[in-house]
Amino acid sequence: MAAATTLIIGASHAGVQTAASLRDNGYDGRIVMISDEAHLPYHRPPLSKTLAKPGGAALQVLRSARFFEDRRIEFVPDTRIATLAPNERRVVTADGAVIDYDALVLATGARPLVPPIPGRDLDGVMTLRSLDDALRLGEALQGADHVAIIGGGMIGLEFAAVAAGEGRQVTVIEAAPRILGRAVSAETADQLAAEHRRRGVTIVTGDSVLAIEGQTRVSAVVTKAGLRVPADLVLIAVGAIANAELAGDIGIGNREGIQVDTGLATAVPGIYAVGDCAHHPNTHAGASMRIESVQNATDQGRTVAAALTGGKARYTALPWFWSDQYELKLQIAGITQGHDLAVSRRDGPDGRLTVFCFRRGRLVGVESINNARTHMAARRLLGAGMTITAAQAADPDFDIGAAAKLIAAAE
Ligand SMILES: Cc1cc2nc3c(=O)[nH]c(=O)nc-3n(C[C@H](O)[C@H](O)[C@H](O)COP(=O)(O)OP(=O)(O)OC[C@H]3O[C@@H](n4cnc5c(N)ncnc54)[C@H](O)[C@@H]3O)c2cc1C
Repeated sequence: MAAATTLIIGASHAGVQTAASLRDNGYDGRIVMISDEAHLPYHRPPLSKTLAKPGGAALQVLRSARFFEDRRIEFVPDTRIATLAPNERRVVTADGAVIDYDALVLATGARPLVPPIPGRDLDGVMTLRSLDDALRLGEALQGADHVAIIGGGMIGLEFAAVAAGEGRQVTVIEAAPRILGRAVSAETADQLAAEHRRRGVTIVTGDSVLAIEGQTRVSAVVTKAGLRVPADLVLIAVGAIANAELAGDIGIGNREGIQVDTGLATAVPGIYAVGDCAHHPNTHAGASMRIESVQNATDQGRTVAAALTGGKARYTALPWFWSDQYELKLQIAGITQGHDLAVSRRDGPDGRLTVFCFRRGRLVGVESINNARTHMAARRLLGAGMTITAAQAADPDFDIGAAAKLIAAAE
């Protein structure tokens, strides 16, 4: 029988999709969705792409207030859940209010990791996760000449592109031997790094920040190798950590995230976790992991809504991701981490890069730049559990789009 009250903690990509899908599936119980942010739920990806610009772009809400009203989704902003009481099936807010539930969905997301670098509390040192962070960053960028970005991951590089586009002197400092080490192949990372350098961004790799200097405001960052990079704005973007403390208090979460099974259920009856916070068995990676992407958050929201309404409740969706830097749109289908062979090729008159990543002879992911057709075809192919050979990937006459069409026709 469907639960009478579903309580969702967190109202972002995962939480909102859970609520919307519950209603789409005919769930008739009460839906309460709690957010510790003040705004209507919004799209997070633009924060590092357009919203962190001085003057920013307009906020893009995920759903209107009307959408929630029409579907009887009780959206409660500005409210933090402080405690879970699973035996009583209730939660307690930071203000001491009690909310009862029958099913609880933890969609608490993640927050920026801040390493204990001396000087991290100086004015002008920032992180980027929320709309408020993006607006503060955009304002700070207006008055900044030198921007230092600690971490050469997606968010750091997207903000580097924004800052360089605004004519600022930008330095990215990455501790690993190359940028995007955890996210993409060396071939794709090299193309992005080349574009950043062409736009005047300095990329330092294999060196880490020892200290952030300044009196009350930041003035420079100092690296292990002895570099002193002038900076009046520093973005710390070295990764994110799951908001798993609530779950940790009741034994179902730790630094890795909230532990769930393939149906996204935790070990505590009636409690599920979805999105960035969920450490789940991923069929495509063949391992348990957290994935930080809109696709993962929304597809997990759909899966948990199906579980709560008696439908198919196994999370098997193909992971995919994108990033925008300057005029380059990077799209990734599948999980390319841990590949043992990368076959790259350039298509079209403008030489658009595609990298086919293989693990033990199987295609596990495809990274493409400014090539939506290839990306969509790769998603179809990988989603159907198909593979191609490395020789086909390397063959300029092999058309992955045509191969994907054949699959679609056979389905
Ligand atoms: C700057 C930026 C750019 C990104 N760009 C891309 C991109 O280009 N492509 C892509 O696929 N992904 C991108 N991502 C990742 C994507 O935004 C996340 O994967 C997605 O937001 C995850 O959604 P979520 O609902 O799981 O968690 P979140 O979006 O983190 O939302 C969780 C919400 O829960 C709230 N919360 C936490 N604890 C509590 C509590 N105790 N009580 C009440 N509320 C609580 C949080 O404040 C937050 O509002 C980007 C992320 C960032 C930060």
